[in-house]
Amino acid sequence: MSCYNQVIPKELVRRQAPKVYLAAIILPLYLFCLPFVFVRSVMLSIVLMLTLGVYLSTWVACLIHECWHKYIPAVPNDFFYNLFSYMLVLDPQIYRVVHGHHHSKVNTWEDVEFHPLGKIRNVHLRRIYNFLEIVLGVIFVFGIQMHVVPRHPDYRDRCRSSTHRLSIAMWLLFYSLVGSSSVVVFNLSARQVVIPLLINFWVGSFFIHQIQLVEHGGLIVEGNFRQRMMQTRNLKHDGPAEKLFLFITHGDSREHILHHSMVGVYTRPFPARLPMPENAVYISLIDYAAVLWRMVTKG
Ligand SMILES: [Zn+2]
Ligand SMILES: [Zn+2]
Repeated sequence: MSCYNQVIPKELVRRQAPKVYLAAIILPLYLFCLPFVFVRSVMLSIVLMLTLGVYLSTWVACLIHECWHKYIPAVPNDFFYNLFSYMLVLDPQIYRVVHGHHHSKVNTWEDVEFHPLGKIRNVHLRRIYNFLEIVLGVIFVFGIQMHVVPRHPDYRDRCRSSTHRLSIAMWLLFYSLVGSSSVVVFNLSARQVVIPLLINFWVGSFFIHQIQLVEHGGLIVEGNFRQRMMQTRNLKHDGPAEKLFLFITHGDSREHILHHSMVGVYTRPFPARLPMPENAVYISLIDYAAVLWRMVTKG
C-alpha cells in the first residue's frame, strides 16, 4: 500500500483541497441562479440541469464519500461531510454508519447501503423496488435507509433522533436560504423557485444512483471477500458515451474496484496511475442498460 501512496504523492492529494471549498460555494450558487434561468427558458434550464446540475450533484456526492474516508487531510472532513449531506437532503448519520459495511459486505444482501431491506423475497415486489430505485435514484434508497437503519440491530445504538431532527432543520434552512434569495433577488414567485429546484433534485438523485448501480447494481456474489469484491464493475472509458458519463460524474465508476481493493489510497481523481487487478470487470453503458433491464424484469 505504501508504494501506491508514493504513486499518488501526498502533495497531489493535498492539492484537491480547494475543490472541496469550491463545490461548497458553487452548488448553492447554481441552485440560486437556476430558477432565474427556468422562468426565462424551461428548455435551457433542463439542459443546465442535465449538464452543470448533474456535474455538481454528483461532485458533492463523491465528496461526501471522500470526506467519510478522510482522504484529503488538508480540509475539515467532518464539517464538509455534514454540510454536503445537508445540501443533498441526506441525514449524515445514516451514511456514516452504513458505508463501512458497503466495503466489508460488498455485493451481498447484507450491504445495507445498497440493500436496506435485504433480499425482498417476493420477486414482483423486488422488481417494483428495483424500478423505483432506478427511476427515483438515491433519494428513494435513502428514504428507506432512514426508516431501517435507526432500527437495525447493528446501527441503532449509533443513530440519534436529535441528529435526525437537526438534519431536517438544516435541509429546511439551506433550501429556504437559497430559495428565498432567489425569490427576492430575481423577483420570482415561490412556485417559480420550488419547481426547478424539485426537478433538479430528482435529476441529481437519479444520476448519483446511476453511478452506484453501474458499480454494484443487481450484483449479489457468493464467495469470500475477495471473490465478492472482484465482481465490482468498472465503466470502460473508450466510447464517447462512457467518456461523457465519466466526465460528468467525476470518474467514480472508472476504476471503482481500486476503491475496494486498496481503500486506504485516494484513487478517484487520479485514474490510470495504479494497476487495475488482472481480472477486473469492465462494462460499457450498453452492458449497464442490460443490468438495469435484468433488475426490472428478473428482480
Ligand atoms: Zn468507500
Ligand atoms: Zn463500491
